[in-house]
Amino acid sequence: MPSGATPFDADAVSPAQRLEVLLEELAELVGQRNTIDGRIVDIVAELERDELCGATGARSIAALVAWKTGVTPNNADTVVAVARRAEDFPLCVEGLREGRLSLDQVGVIAGGAADGSDAHYAELAAVATVTQLPTAVKLEPRPEPEPTPEAEPEPKRSFRKEVHADSTTYRITLPRDEAATVDAAMQSHHDALIAAWKRDHEDGDQASEHAPPFPNTVDAFMGLVESGWDADVAARPHGQHTTVVVHVDLDRDGEKPVAALHLGPVLSDEERRYLTCDATCEVWFERHGQPIGAGRSARTVNRRLRRALEHRDRCCAVPGCGATRGLHAHHIRHWEDGGPTELDNLVMLCPYHHRLHHKGGITITGPAHQLTVTDATGRELHPGSLARPPTTPPPDVPPYRGPTGERADWWWYTPFQPEPPPSPN
Ligand SMILES: [Zn+2]
Ligand SMILES: [Zn+2]
Repeated sequence: MPSGATPFDADAVSPAQRLEVLLEELAELVGQRNTIDGRIVDIVAELERDELCGATGARSIAALVAWKTGVTPNNADTVVAVARRAEDFPLCVEGLREGRLSLDQVGVIAGGAADGSDAHYAELAAVATVTQLPTAVKLEPRPEPEPTPEAEPEPKRSFRKEVHADSTTYRITLPRDEAATVDAAMQSHHDALIAAWKRDHEDGDQASEHAPPFPNTVDAFMGLVESGWDADVAARPHGQHTTVVVHVDLDRDGEKPVAALHLGPVLSDEERRYLTCDATCEVWFERHGQPIGAGRSARTVNRRLRRALEHRDRCCAVPGCGATRGLHAHHIRHWEDGGPTELDNLVMLCPYHHRLHHKGGITITGPAHQLTVTDATGRELHPGSLARPPTTPPPDVPPYRGPTGERADWWWYTPFQPEPPPSPN
């Protein structure tokens, strides 16, 4: 038998014996890994409970886990799902900490099992594989869908839809700057519809009863949706969406300019700098209340420049983000402070991190080819995971032999039966 790179003396050891040795080592390693995963879950639960990750600039705890531990978003979601329900499933999570259950097994349970089912699944998971457990969870009687897990700490944004017999009601909640975009777009469409209506009906006051009604806000909204639907979106450069008009009052004797949204509220310094950073809004400079120009040329990122930027940055420049859609071109030194609209002073940011930066949640210092991004506490953010060679011995736990995985006979399986709900108090 030719000698390979195997650590075994191939002549002395049979394949069956080698398999046994390798599986034994695997069992030991997986037991240790489960225990380590248990500790990771505890750390994530603590990060979230004490709200420690707000300073990192990550958009969610799952994004932080994916970034810092170098795992896929799916794996990170599993860790977070277990961390969030660790208190509901103490026995299952203890099984993970002791190396007896795997993260994915407990993840399936935390992802869908009913409250109060900890003991049931802790016992089942000892024998059921990761592919068998979801079946068991699905067999639970389920009078109502699971409540969705707590919303991420994003700015208030939601889109709700209630379907009635013959109509649908939409409820949309947006932060101020995004609401301003909607308002500006609606106003522009409303004006255009009214102008068209007047054009069609101005000959004679005999507005017939067949004339369409005078356009209202809902017509403006539908006009907006339809024109968005029709438009050749691909032909537009990113970011060249509907204009928000910002009036900047320069008549301030050396003080900072004051900006207001067109027909809207006065903006904070942060909001003004955010809105006027990219070319997503139109800026009107005013002195003594008189417009003195639209000032686009100085700060507009033209198509060629934007393409060069997209080619250079590819995704949001904040480490660990990786967002590629709807990116903004951020002026590292703001154009208000004389920052030029040039490649070296521009960097691509996703809308979330762009807003976060202008609110002071992260700092971004250039030039673009030597970008430094820090979190709110001034610590520099680095891409890549935190992984490094261990300095402590691996956890001392028994090997993980895995669930027995015997063929499941679902006919005889008794699903978890939730207690009848307590009477409301
Ligand atoms: Zn910016
Ligand atoms: Zn980002």
